[in-house]
Amino acid sequence: MKTATIKKVKTRTVLVGVAASPGYAVGSVQKIANRTVTIDEAKLPAERLPAEEQLFLKALDNTTRDINNLKTATVQRLGINEARIFDAHLMMLKDPTLLNSILASIKQEGHNASWAVHSSLSALIAQFEKSKSEVLRERAMDLKELYNRLLAALGDSGPVLSSVPHKDGSIIVAHELTPGTLISLKRDEILGFATDSGGRTSHFSILARSMQIPAVSGLRNVSLLIENGDTILIDGTGGMVIVNPNEEDLRHFEEKLAVFNKQKQELFTMRQLEPMTRDGKYITLLANIELPLEADNVLDFGATGIGLYRSEFLFFRKGMPTCAEQAEAYSYILRTLKPFPVVIRTLDAGGDKLVSDVSASEEANPFMGWRSIRVCLSRKDLFKDQLKALLLASVEGNLRIMFPMISGLNELREAKALYQECRTELLDQGKELPKVKIGAMIEVPAAVMMVEALAKEVDFFSIGTNDLIQFTLAVDRTNELIANMFEPHHPAVLNMIDRVVRAAHREGIPVCVCGEMSSDPLSTLVLVGLGVDELSMTPWSIMECKKIIRSVNYEDAKATAKAVLKLDDAQSVNRYLRQKYLQTITDLGISSFITSHDVKDSLDDNV
Ligand code: PEP
Ligand code: MG
Repeated sequence: MKTATIKKVKTRTVLVGVAASPGYAVGSVQKIANRTVTIDEAKLPAERLPAEEQLFLKALDNTTRDINNLKTATVQRLGINEARIFDAHLMMLKDPTLLNSILASIKQEGHNASWAVHSSLSALIAQFEKSKSEVLRERAMDLKELYNRLLAALGDSGPVLSSVPHKDGSIIVAHELTPGTLISLKRDEILGFATDSGGRTSHFSILARSMQIPAVSGLRNVSLLIENGDTILIDGTGGMVIVNPNEEDLRHFEEKLAVFNKQKQELFTMRQLEPMTRDGKYITLLANIELPLEADNVLDFGATGIGLYRSEFLFFRKGMPTCAEQAEAYSYILRTLKPFPVVIRTLDAGGDKLVSDVSASEEANPFMGWRSIRVCLSRKDLFKDQLKALLLASVEGNLRIMFPMISGLNELREAKALYQECRTELLDQGKELPKVKIGAMIEVPAAVMMVEALAKEVDFFSIGTNDLIQFTLAVDRTNELIANMFEPHHPAVLNMIDRVVRAAHREGIPVCVCGEMSSDPLSTLVLVGLGVDELSMTPWSIMECKKIIRSVNYEDAKATAKAVLKLDDAQSVNRYLRQKYLQTITDLGISSFITSHDVKDSLDDNV
C-alpha cells in the first residue's frame, strides 16, 4: 500500500475568512490542531465508486467556490491585478484533461478520490517542474496550490487538540478553538489566531476581541495548508491571512498597523465624554467581560458598569468551582466596579462552551441542546451553589442577576423560585442581603413571543442577539459556511427587538442589547432608534460606539428605525443604514473607526 501526506503551501497564499477580531499581526505559526489527510492507494469495491466520484465532484465545487470568493475578496481589498492569479486557478480546475484523468482513476481504476487527485496532479506537477520554460515551472506552483486545496476539501475534519505547544510570539493556527482552550493560553505569547472554523459570534471570536488579539476564523483549510514555523500575516480587521507574505505585504502590514494603533489612541479621547446623542438622549454603555480580571480596565474604556459577565468562564477547569470560590470571583468584580452596576449572568454552559462536569460531549445540535438554564434547572445543586455565591457577593457592590436562554414563563418562574429559596436560606442563617435586580435574557424567539408576560416578571431585559439571530434565522453562529447569512439587520430580527423594547417600556423596565450586534457601528443608529436603553459590548468597542452616539440625533435615529422596520430584507436595511450613516457622520472623519469593515467599505465606495 502506498501512502502520501498532503503537501503544505510554501508559496505566498492569500486566504479569506471571517473578521473575528480586529487588528494586525505577523509571526511564525504554531499549530495546535492537527488535521491530516493521508492518501492511500487501496482499491475500493465497485459499489463504492459512484459515491467516491460524487465526493470528488463536491470537493471540486467547494474548491471552485472558495477560489471565486477569494478572487472577489482580493479584487475588493487588493485590486484586480492581485486577483488575476485566481483566474488561472479556476481555468485549471476546469481543464478536461486533468478532470478526466482524476475521474478515470476513480471510475476505471477503482481508486478513492484523494488518491485520484494526488496521483493525477503529482504527475502533472512533476512534468511542469521539469520543464525548461519558466512559465510552465510557475504553473507547477499553481498546480501545487490546487493540489493542496482539493485534498484539503476532501479531508476529514478530525481536530486533535493536543496540549498547547505555543512559544513566544506565535500566531496560533487551529482547526477549531474553544473558549476553554483560549483562556488556557498565555496572553503575551500569542500574536494572533487563524482557524478553519467559526463565525464572528462564536465564543472563540468574542473572547479574542476581549483579549484584543487579532483573529481570522472560518478559513476552512488553513490548518492543513500550513506548517509550524511558516510565516503568517493576520488581518483581523479585514478577515484575511497571507501565508508566507512577500515584502510588499509586510510593508502594507506596517502601514495598516500604524494607522490601527493611531486610531486606537484617538479613540481614548472619547473616554470621559457622555454617551449622549446631539439632542440629549443618554444611552448607557456597558462592558461585556469573560474573566474577573477584565473588570480592572472597563471603566478606563468609558463603560459605566458591566452589562454581561459570562460566568461560565469560571467553570472552564477541572472540577466545579465551590460556592466560596465563586463568591470570591463575583465579589472581586463587584468591588472593582462599585458603585456601578454589574450584571452577572448565571451559568450558560453548552453550545460551544463545554463545561467538563455538566456538558454532553457529543450532541447533534449543541446550541439547541443540553445548555444554559436547562442544565441549571436540572442540576439544582449546582445552580443553587451559584445563586448563593452571587447573593453572598451582593453586599460588595451593585449586583444584578440575569438568567440566560429563557424560553417561557415556567423556566423563568422556576429560576426565580430557586433564587428566592437561596435568599431565604441565607437570610435564615442571619446574612444581611441587599435587594438584587433580576433580569432575563431574550435570545430565543419563543421568549419574544411571550415577552409581554415575561416583562411583568423581571426588573430588566437583556437581548442576546448572538443567539436570537441564530435561532430566528436558523443560522448556526459557529458555522463558517453560512457566516454571511448571519444577518443582524434582517427585518425579522429588528422587529423582534422592537417588540421586546415596546413590551419592556410598557412595564417600565429597561432593555439592554448585549450580543455582538451592540458594537457594530452600523447597528448603533437603529438600536438607539428602536429605543434600546443600554448597549453592552467588548470594552474596546465602547469608545467607538460613544463616538457614534454623540454624532447622531435621537429623532433621526427613531425615524431610521421606523423606516427600516418596513423594509423587505437585510440587504435593503444594510443599504439604507449605510446611507443614513454616511449622511450623519460625514463631519466625523472616518479615520477613527476601527472595527467595522462594512461601514468602511461603504464609505470607501462613496469617496
Ligand atoms: C448572546 O447570545 O447574544 C449573548 C450575549 O450570549 P452568548 O454570546 O454568550 O451566547
Ligand atoms: Mg447567548
